[in-house]
Formats: sequence, C-alpha cells, structure tokens
Amino acid sequence: MYLKTKAIIIKIRDFSENDLIVDLFTFSSGKITAIAKGAKSAKSKVSGVSNLFFYGEFELYIGKKWNRINSIEVINSFYYIREDIEKLSYGSYFLELIETSIVEKKSEKELFVLLLKTLDNLKNKNYLFLKVLFQFKLLTNLGYKPRLYNCSKCGEEVSNNIGFSVYHGGVVCEKCNDNDSLNISLKLLSIFQYFEQNEFSQIINIEINSLFIKKMDIILYKYLTYYLDKSDFKSLKFLNIFKEE
Ligand SMILES: [Zn+2]
Repeated sequence: MYLKTKAIIIKIRDFSENDLIVDLFTFSSGKITAIAKGAKSAKSKVSGVSNLFFYGEFELYIGKKWNRINSIEVINSFYYIREDIEKLSYGSYFLELIETSIVEKKSEKELFVLLLKTLDNLKNKNYLFLKVLFQFKLLTNLGYKPRLYNCSKCGEEVSNNIGFSVYHGGVVCEKCNDNDSLNISLKLLSIFQYFEQNEFSQIINIEINSLFIKKMDIILYKYLTYYLDKSDFKSLKFLNIFKEE
C-alpha cells in the first residue's frame, strides 16, 4: 500500500551503511517509522531525510513488516533550527515531547499544526515563551488541561492565597492549598487563563514579563513530567548546560 502525506521528521537513526531509519510525524496517520534507503548518499532522492525537522510531502510504501520512504518533496526544511545550537536544543525538546505524545498510525492533526507553528516561531528568539506556550497547548490537546477556574480539589471558587497542585490537576483554593502545592499568584493564574482562552497565533504576539514566563515554565514542566510520565529529556539537559554558562 502506498501513502502520500505531509510529514515532519522527528527522529533519525542509523540502519546500515547507506540507510537510515526515520520516525515521521505524518499529518494523515500520526507516527510512522520507515526506512530511507540510500539516504546517506547526497545523490539519493530521499537524502533530505537525514535532516531533523525536515517538513515535506512524503510518499511512503506501507509494508507488512517495514515501511519505506519512496520519495520526498520539501515544503520547509527548517534549516535555521539546525544552524543555531540554542534553536536546535529547543527544537529537539519539542520533537522529544511530540514523540512521547503520539502513537503509531493515530492521526493527531491539531498537534501536527501546533508543532509546525512552533517550529516556525523558532525563527524568533523568545524561546522560553515559545516553550511555555507549546507545553501548555500540547497538554491541553492531549486532554491534560489544568483546571484554572475552580479549586481542582474541592471545586470551590478560588480567590486569595491560591496554589497550584500538580497532583490534583490545577489551581487550589486557600483551604486546599498545602505544602505540596506550588506558588501561583492571581496574576499568573490570569495569564494561564489567557493561554487557555486564546489561539496560539494570538498569544505568541503579546508581551509577557519574563519573570512570569519563568514561573509558568516551572509549573508547567512539573505538571507535564507528572502527566506524561517522562522527565529524562535529553535536549533539556543540554539546555540547562547553556543556562549555567
Ligand atoms: Zn479547595
């Protein structure tokens, strides 16, 4: 069977001297792993697959045991991400998160569009803002949207002295706010609510104080590692080295 679909390359590994194995995030069918025969040769018609982030129109042969990439046509190679070590690190983190979140042959069209918009915005330098926004929209899309209006433990309305409970899945009221909750101000909560109510393209254009962004990142990262049950992101270890320099 042949499949023609738009796809983004999210992981590449060696298969043999000339061939690569590539994980694709396809628009039509979610994750597909395929062999790219001869991909290491510059002359090969599938040589583009040796580049992470490559976005194109793929023709795939779907076999019983193995899938194969027959041909590709570039739409956007996202070359600027690979040329800058910081962009590359953030971009790799986004791909790692996507890889954790999608499964074989299950279409995730909204996530696909989210990833494309995010990679596109790596052109700019608001990396941490982009990371926060990507994490939030990814979690929402996967059904892990945090509760941001009523207490996620008792359901009461929240007013002052609120907290954020990863375990209960969102904001907690003064009564339920205990040592396990994270600090969150009403102002910060209102930014989270803004993120929930608005589209990616609208949010990315507003200005948010970098301190708020840092706090949001801390909360979201704890939330995400808990619900996605993953914390050993290789790309993040690299980003943390950066920050220390
Ligand atoms: Zn409560």
